[in-house]
Amino acid sequence: MMIKWLGHSAFEITTSTDKSIFIDPWIENPLSPVSLDDISKADLVLVTHDHFDHIGNTVDICKKTSAMVVTNPETSNKLSQSGVENVIGINIGGSVEPIDGVKVTMVQAFHSSESGCPAGFLLHIDGKIIYHAGDTGIFSSMELLGDLYDINVALIPIGSVFTMDSYQAAKSLRLLKPDVAIPMHYGTFSALVKDAKEFLDLAKRESPDVKVVVLKPGEEWGL
Ligand SMILES: [Zn+2]
Repeated sequence: MMIKWLGHSAFEITTSTDKSIFIDPWIENPLSPVSLDDISKADLVLVTHDHFDHIGNTVDICKKTSAMVVTNPETSNKLSQSGVENVIGINIGGSVEPIDGVKVTMVQAFHSSESGCPAGFLLHIDGKIIYHAGDTGIFSSMELLGDLYDINVALIPIGSVFTMDSYQAAKSLRLLKPDVAIPMHYGTFSALVKDAKEFLDLAKRESPDVKVVVLKPGEEWGL
């Protein structure tokens, strides 16, 4: 399975059975290494919350590929009205298997959303667990998530202003206890933290057992 960072909070995960999963696909973000024209296949799209930088190009991708979308019920209604055909609305604590071999669990995030409730996702794929935190501040129930789920990879925001900063993100790794952390939601807007250097240093100090993998936009990492 490969995890490719597309800039901001957008990732493409390719499973061992060649399923293509996009999370928060704002493909037109300033860091994005790909354009919409480059995307011809998508099986599943996950949207953590209804802000332009997360819902992004979901409608364009789904119209092109007929991908299934999983998001909160209110945002899923909005997407249906925009012409997205295959949408599943779920809520915090719930799990579904929208495509064969991929289970998705919605968990809390502390943020806002133009429709529905903001969330994070746990993806259960090929016996591994990937956590995408969405946009959130740090919260103590991350420790519970770390106890409930043996998280292999945590995709976590570090950019501050709208989400956790480097310090909170480094501390969150003590709660989540992933094997690997990949930072996201930085460097996109001038207001956000510019790079992952401080996070890398703080994570080493706060959570030395967690391996931090800093991807360049377009770079991928396999597990
Ligand atoms: Zn955001």
